[in-house]
Amino acid sequence: MFKKTLITGTMAVITLVSAAVPAFAATSQVSALGAASSTPSAAQVAVVAISPEEAASLQFMREEEKLAHDVYAALYEQWGLALFDNIAASERNHTDAIASLLDLYGVADPAADKGPGEFTNEDLQALYDELAAQGSQSLADAIKVGATIEEVDILDLQARLDETGTASIRQVYSNLVSGSENHLRAFVSTLKIQTGETYVPQYLSQAAYDAIISAAGNQGGGNGSGNRGGGGGRR
Ligand code: MN
Ligand code: MN
Repeated sequence: MFKKTLITGTMAVITLVSAAVPAFAATSQVSALGAASSTPSAAQVAVVAISPEEAASLQFMREEEKLAHDVYAALYEQWGLALFDNIAASERNHTDAIASLLDLYGVADPAADKGPGEFTNEDLQALYDELAAQGSQSLADAIKVGATIEEVDILDLQARLDETGTASIRQVYSNLVSGSENHLRAFVSTLKIQTGETYVPQYLSQAAYDAIISAAGNQGGGNGSGNRGGGGGRR
């Protein structure tokens, strides 16, 4: 009699727990992985080891987001276009979000002791130097540099998204892609407004570029004529 009750009670507890755990895990994951600006903390995410490839990926993207920030900050200083200041603030959040992941997974931060325009990764250093110089030539060049950085960022993030199954990393990278798409649309529409020029994608396929730009339809402005002649003036 007593024994039977005990078993029933135990079963009930087991049922409760097994039902509760997935629900809790799902909730925890969603809240932990929210916006890029609210990065997951150790308390929110069950920390698992990441691969050397994922660690390298985070280190690279930490500096690539910093590159975007540093270029835009420099271009804002030179040209005073508020858009650069606004997007630089967004890039600060992006690079900080990745810094939080580096910290979470115990990976060394390549940007820890770097000043503005300084990078551990030699390719990113060369890219910064090239883009900063290019953007200093004219306001139009500066805005095109912005669009180019966003193209590269989207492609680099997408490539690294394909190579990781770690939810916390995927969530941050996905948020950063969304941010980059917004930034690309902003640079492209601002180029048109400021100079009348139609931006020509440098790295994205025309189809991928068109899909991103047309997704801006819901953010108003009806940007562009839809007639972005594929030919002229690739620079
Ligand atoms: Mn970014
Ligand atoms: Mn961006």
